[in-house]
Amino acid sequence: MMAFEQIPKKDWYSILGADPSANMSDLKQKYQKLILLYHPDKQSADVPAGTVEECIQKFIEIDQAWKILGNEETKKEYDLQRQEGDLRNTGPVDAQVYLEEMCWNEGDHTFSLSCRCGGKYSVSKDEAEEVTLISCDTCSLIIELLHYG
Ligand SMILES: [Zn+2]
Repeated sequence: MMAFEQIPKKDWYSILGADPSANMSDLKQKYQKLILLYHPDKQSADVPAGTVEECIQKFIEIDQAWKILGNEETKKEYDLQRQEGDLRNTGPVDAQVYLEEMCWNEGDHTFSLSCRCGGKYSVSKDEAEEVTLISCDTCSLIIELLHYG
C-alpha cells in the first residue's frame, strides 16, 4: 500500500486531470480520452496482472468522476462542497450572519456585507440558499451564513 493519508473525498477534477475551472466540454473531452485509455477492452494482453487491476480501478474512478462532473446538478453540488471544504481549511469563521443582515443589491442581484478589512462579502441570490460559508473578496476572513430553521 502507498503511504497516502486517508482522503475523505475524492478530487474528481484531478482524477479527470482537469482544472476545477474547466468547462463542460473540456471535462467531457478529458473523460473520453481517459476512459478509452483505461478501458479494460483496450488493454493489450501482455500487460502484467497488477497493471490490469490498476487500470480497472482507474477506469471505475474516471467513470465515477464523470457521473458527478458530467451532470450540471451533481457538479454544482460537488463544486459547492469543494468550495466549502477549501474555505474551512483557509481559516476560522469571523462572524455568523443571517441573510437578512446583509445588504441587497438590486443591480447585480447579490447580497453583500462589508468586511472589517474594507473588502466585501458577497453572495448571489441563488447561492445564498445553498452556501453557508462566504469568503471576503479581499482578505482571508470568512463569514458563516445562517438560515432560519
Ligand atoms: Zn476582508
